[in-house]
Order: sequence, then C-alpha cells, then structure tokens
Amino acid sequence: MNSSPFDLVTVGGGLGASALAISMARQGARVLVLEKELQFRDRVRGEALTPWGVAEAKKLGLAELLMKTCANQILGMDMGFGVRNIIETTPQKEPGFTYFHPEMQEALLAEAGRAGAQVRRGVVVVAVEPGANNGAVITRDTKEERIRARLVVGADGRGSAVRKWAGFTSHKSPQPFHFAGVLLTGVKERQDVMTYLFNADLGLVVGIVPLTKGRWRAYLGYSTENGLFLQGSEKLGAFLAESEKVAPSVAEAYADVESIGPLATFEGTESWIDHPYRDGVVLIGDAAGTSDPTFGQGMSITLRDVRVLRDALLEHSAWDTACHHFAREHDTYFHVTRKVCGWLRILFEDPSPEAQALRHRAMPRIAEDLSRVPDHLLSGPDMPADDAVRDRLFGEY
Ligand SMILES: Cc1cc2nc3c(=O)[nH]c(=O)nc-3n(C[C@H](O)[C@H](O)[C@H](O)COP(=O)(O)OP(=O)(O)OC[C@H]3O[C@@H](n4cnc5c(N)ncnc54)[C@H](O)[C@@H]3O)c2cc1C
Repeated sequence: MNSSPFDLVTVGGGLGASALAISMARQGARVLVLEKELQFRDRVRGEALTPWGVAEAKKLGLAELLMKTCANQILGMDMGFGVRNIIETTPQKEPGFTYFHPEMQEALLAEAGRAGAQVRRGVVVVAVEPGANNGAVITRDTKEERIRARLVVGADGRGSAVRKWAGFTSHKSPQPFHFAGVLLTGVKERQDVMTYLFNADLGLVVGIVPLTKGRWRAYLGYSTENGLFLQGSEKLGAFLAESEKVAPSVAEAYADVESIGPLATFEGTESWIDHPYRDGVVLIGDAAGTSDPTFGQGMSITLRDVRVLRDALLEHSAWDTACHHFAREHDTYFHVTRKVCGWLRILFEDPSPEAQALRHRAMPRIAEDLSRVPDHLLSGPDMPADDAVRDRLFGEY
C-alpha cells in the first residue's frame, strides 16, 4: 500500500481521464479526477468513434454505457465508392459510434463518480511535480493545494501543460491543412452512415457525422495554401460553399441547414511525446500524442491508451514498470497511425504537383482494387504498415 492518499490523480476529466478513472475505480483503485470545467460545452472536438475504437470501448466496459446515454450507431461509411458495411468489413465486426462530445464527457464523468472515483470540477491544475515513484499536482480552487498520488495522469488534451510541467520534450510535425467543424441541423443524409469525401485536387475533405437528436457534425479539412481561416459564425457561408465544392452530393445534403454551435478551425499539426512516462507522471490521450484530426483517430487512440495502461497497472505491482510498458506500446501504435495517415494525406488531400503525379499512377489501380488502401482508420493500428503496404497503395506494383 502506497502512503499517498490517492493511487491516481488525473489532470483533466475528458474522455481519457474519465475512461481511466472508471476502469481503475471499478478495480478498487483510489482515483481523483480534477476537471476545470463545471459544465462541458461544445469545443468542436471528435464525435466519430471508429470500429476499432468501439472495440476498445467494449474492452473497457464502456460501450453499453455510451449507447445508453449518448451514442448513435453507425453501420455504413461512404467515401465516394458507395456505402460500405463497416460491421461486415472490419476485423472487429463492430459498428462505429457517434455522439455529441460534451454529452459523452458528462456521461463518462458521472460514471466515474458512480464507480467510486472522487470527481472535483471547477478545479484548475496549475503545476505538476514529478517524483521518484510518485508525483503531485498543485491545484487552484479557492486556495492553492498540493495533492500527492502514486501516479499523476496527464489527460489535459491537445494543449497539454502537463507535458511541460513534467519536463517532457514535445515533437511537432506541422501539416499543411486546417480542420474546421460546426454543429448543424437539417442535413439530408442517412442517420446510420458517416460520409467522408475527398477532393485532392482542391485540397479539400468533407466529413458529415450524424449525431443524436437531429444534430450533425460537419467537418471541413482545407489546405493552408488557399488563404482561408474558417473561424466564427460569420464564416458559415464560406464553410458551406467550400464544402459544396467537394461533390454535388454535399450541396444536396447542406441545402437547408442551420448552425447550432460555434464554427472553429484547428491546425492539422501532429504533436507528441516520445515515451510518455517519467518519474510518476504518465500522459494519455491527446496529451501523449495529438493526431491530425482530419483522420478521426484521436478518440480511438485515447481509449487504446486507457486500456493498455489499465492492463499494465493491474498486472504489475511496480507501477514504474507498468508505465514504461505502456509508454513503449503507445509509441508503436501512435506512430503506425501517424505513418499511415501521412500516406493517405498525400493520396487523398495534397494538391501539390508531386502528389498529383502519384495519384495519376495510383488512383486507376485503386479504383480496380479498393483493398490497396490500408484500412487502419477503421480497422486499427495492428494491421501491417510496412513498405509493401505503402508501395501497393501508391501503385508501385
Ligand atoms: C476538430 C476536431 C475533430 C476531431 N474529430 C475526431 C473524430 O472524428 N474522431 C476521433 O476519434 N477524434 C477526433 N478528434 C480528436 C479527439 O477530439 C481527441 O483525440 C479527444 O478528445 C482526446 O481526449 P482527451 O481526453 O485526451 O482530451 P480532451 O477531450 O481535450 O480532455 C481534456 C480535459 O482536460 C481538461 N483540462 C485541461 N487542462 C486542465 C487543467 N489545467 N486543470 C484541470 N482540467 C484541465 C479540459 O477541460 C478537458 O475536459 C478531433 C479533434 C478535433 C480538434
């Protein structure tokens, strides 16, 4: 038994933190969750969980809860080649889930409390102190307070300050794309099908994600070269006009829409920590590695992080060993995902002449045989991602 008052304290109470809090509290761990928001609001975040992410949610015992509280079940995916049945064609044999992100966050954080975790909201963590076998966080509520725990979990999202406080070195790979999103009603599309359409010559990608209660998340990826920055509700007209350039079906889907949330744009920049564990502080979710949002992998990777970390913490009594194991595993699946997204970005988004030349060779072969496109986005990072997979995608044989 460790002398700290908590086994784990999480900085943040989003998807990663609350999923870990639920999983560990259910096993009897003493967990404290510190979340700065009193009520979650629409920050324009991920709302489409792929089949491999749903499989992770199942392994964590969260899938049923998500379905009961906030999720819509997705059976098909339309990427411009007809609607693909994703249950039949993925190794997990699972549907996708979609949900309004703030409702998912509220549902999971409430469950963390029911599972026995202590949840404190409206609390801003202002520092983290790594230690040999444990760490501490400093919070500012009404007064400053120092809380020690056997393990501090940095789950504070894409702008993670824990990375810096705990002395990790961040790596960045800027990408020449922006990714915008807005919440809509009145979209004319099927409720059980997600749509992702690319127009690489224009450097545009559209995502149309049906949620519950007649709401839709509309995303638009666009090249940084085209001079747009789609931020703020006054840019809704430009957002819709750019989206409609991708395919005539998008114009039909958006003919009568209304916006019911903020319009926000994010950089496609990837940023990550190599080996996200040191001295009693572990990073999970976007804090460990922020993937390019265009490819919709962030929540699935976050749930994989939680599952791998949970299993390691339950298996090893020495949590230092457990966290090093987690960090090694994380690096493998995060970078497989990054690598494959890099290939897909060139083929389906990049308007440069070099990418156009590659497409000229690759696309006719892909049209004949769709299995040339590696399926990591839906099927997960355990699929092969070696040079042969890359060469086949780019039509080199
Ligand atoms: C535009 C966009 C579209 C996306 N689309 C998809 C998609 O379709 N599918 C997908 O899988 N992923 C998608 N993602 C990624 C996905 O949203 C993230 O991977 C996921 O939300 C990460 O969860 P998290 O728990 O790590 O971080 P977050 O969800 O960001 O949670 C972090 C929490 O920490 C709290 N916090 C931060 N700092 C402090 C502090 N100092 N003290 C206390 N609390 C703090 C925050 O309030 C927040 O609640 C998208 C991202 C963006 C930006």
